[in-house]
Amino acid sequence: MLPTKSGALRLFRLWGIEVFIHWSWFLVAFYSISTRVKSYDSPVWAAAEYFALMLFVLMHEFGHSTACRSVGGQADQIVLWPLGGVAYVNPPQRPGATLWSIAAGPLVNVVLVPVLFGLLLWVDRTEWVQQVPDAGRFFYTIYLINFGLLIFNLLPMYPLDGGQILRSVLWYPLGRARSLMVATIIGLVGGVAFLGYAFYRQSLWNGVMAFFLLSICWRGLQEAKAIRKVEQLPRHDGFACPECHTPPPAGPYWRCRACSQPFDPFTTNGTCPHCATVSEITFCPNCGAGKPLRSWDRSIREA
Ligand SMILES: [Zn+2]
Ligand SMILES: [Zn+2]
Ligand SMILES: [Zn+2]
Repeated sequence: MLPTKSGALRLFRLWGIEVFIHWSWFLVAFYSISTRVKSYDSPVWAAAEYFALMLFVLMHEFGHSTACRSVGGQADQIVLWPLGGVAYVNPPQRPGATLWSIAAGPLVNVVLVPVLFGLLLWVDRTEWVQQVPDAGRFFYTIYLINFGLLIFNLLPMYPLDGGQILRSVLWYPLGRARSLMVATIIGLVGGVAFLGYAFYRQSLWNGVMAFFLLSICWRGLQEAKAIRKVEQLPRHDGFACPECHTPPPAGPYWRCRACSQPFDPFTTNGTCPHCATVSEITFCPNCGAGKPLRSWDRSIREA
């Protein structure tokens, strides 16, 4: 259910990150602006307000993307769509790297709070605001918009940033799978409460949002269960991933790149028993890193 590049327009590319905007954004923009026009003397300010929101969301997503890249993760795409922005980040599967990639988004909004407050104070003292009262309303509203974005994103409900921060922190004591499990269960409870609130307020918009959050949470819980299964498999204790130091599971969980048959490279020295092709690198099921088989061998590395 996540938005993809399909149906999205490419806006620009900055620091190696491509920014797309989903077509539905324009519909929602039109709707939002039309509901805000009444608050200003000139409709231009309502449009400016919406563009400010878009800019804050974009800066927030750039926070995620650049932080993810700084820890060696992949992040080269941002899609703006009506339920916010989505930065496609794939940080290395370590709690610290994940925590930084997630926390950097809300941190951008934290930095914006004093900046926008300063701007508001400054505008309030100029003569301009007497001639154009809309300007005062505008700067006050965008200050609130940024603050609202910050608070909403920090709700400890997976997949919101707050929930993902909670997950990364729990990763230290609980491990990768159980931390995700706890965070998604809390997210599901929060999502149901949110759905109840939407019903109570008869808000279709909140209902759609709650449903969306619940569906991602549900998928996260299934993912956690799958990771847990892999975590509980017997291990080759003589080997460990050079990246995440997790021993590989013992069994035919790798596929030969030549004949696609499953095999266990750690018992065959990387040679496929079906077609005799030798794999130069072996991928870690835990973190996804691909490394030469030799570098996995504990006895060689420690020697
Ligand atoms: Zn975020
Ligand atoms: Zn093969
Ligand atoms: Zn690994």
